[in-house]
Amino acid sequence: MHIALLSRNRNLYSTRRLIEAAEARGHTARVVDTLRCYMSIAAHHPSIHYKGAEIERFDAVIPRIGASITFYGCAVLRQFEMMGTYVVNDSVAITRSRDKLRSLQLLSRKGLGLPITGFAHSPDDIPDLITMVKGAPLVIKLLEGTQGIGVVLAETNQAAESVVQAFMGMKANIMVQEYIKEARGADIRCFVIGDKVVATMKRQAAEGEFRSNLHRGGTASVIRITPEERSTAIRAAKAMGLQVAGVDLLRANHGPVIMEVNSSPGLQGIETATGKDIAGMIIEHIEKNATATRKVPPKPKG
Ligand code: ADP
Repeated sequence: MHIALLSRNRNLYSTRRLIEAAEARGHTARVVDTLRCYMSIAAHHPSIHYKGAEIERFDAVIPRIGASITFYGCAVLRQFEMMGTYVVNDSVAITRSRDKLRSLQLLSRKGLGLPITGFAHSPDDIPDLITMVKGAPLVIKLLEGTQGIGVVLAETNQAAESVVQAFMGMKANIMVQEYIKEARGADIRCFVIGDKVVATMKRQAAEGEFRSNLHRGGTASVIRITPEERSTAIRAAKAMGLQVAGVDLLRANHGPVIMEVNSSPGLQGIETATGKDIAGMIIEHIEKNATATRKVPPKPKG
């Protein structure tokens, strides 16, 4: 197969590993810079041009679209979909997953465990919003933050009110969330491919920090998950429509709760922690699925 890796940077660990894994399995693979793709939207011949010429035909596209270029990246990916190319994660699913509130709303419809989460527009509604999520300590989050940036723990109702007011004053979209104290700064990353959890790791926040992101100094280790956690992760990826996903869970007293579902989960942390060839598993998934769906243009979805 001829595989495109939509990525801005060929030197990133995940990009390198996916190219390596594709070649090791006998395929050809090429890194395509997402922002250098441009497109012609025509009725009978939708096409993509790349650095001055029409791009070649690929059997599959692996999108690795960073949060800062979601809009353009998803437009490029959608164009590949319109051309009938198999994509590992489709543009609609990626767009859904990038909005934390939209994701939680979709997951709640499936009855999956979530922290109680509130969202409001008017500053007048802040006091009741805080009561709705059981009061301080509580977590305030930017809807489109990543790597733990824009996630704040407010220890008192007064602090929570001031922070929410400040964010609202800046017209930033935020949600407030029940604080899962019993997780003690740890979360579980479940790496889902297709309908399986293929690897799991625990991330523990640094001393004095409640956010477990590796970018915030968290450390990774291997962990065994329960059947309930496994099924929650698989159902979460499915609810979002993602074939490859990093589902983050917290262990709450009443069972697993979903933090977020990541559509471009990094490979470095999980491959290092588990010693598994996750890149190879993604390519294997493409081998099984790409040929079956090739040339069938996707139906428009909501
Ligand atoms: P990001 O997408 O920026 O990583 P998350 O919503 O995943 O943001 O939050 C980052 C980290 O902060 C989580 O991995 C978790 O460790 C911690 N955290 C976030 N929300 C809560 C919460 N409601 N209760 C406890 N810890 C939380």
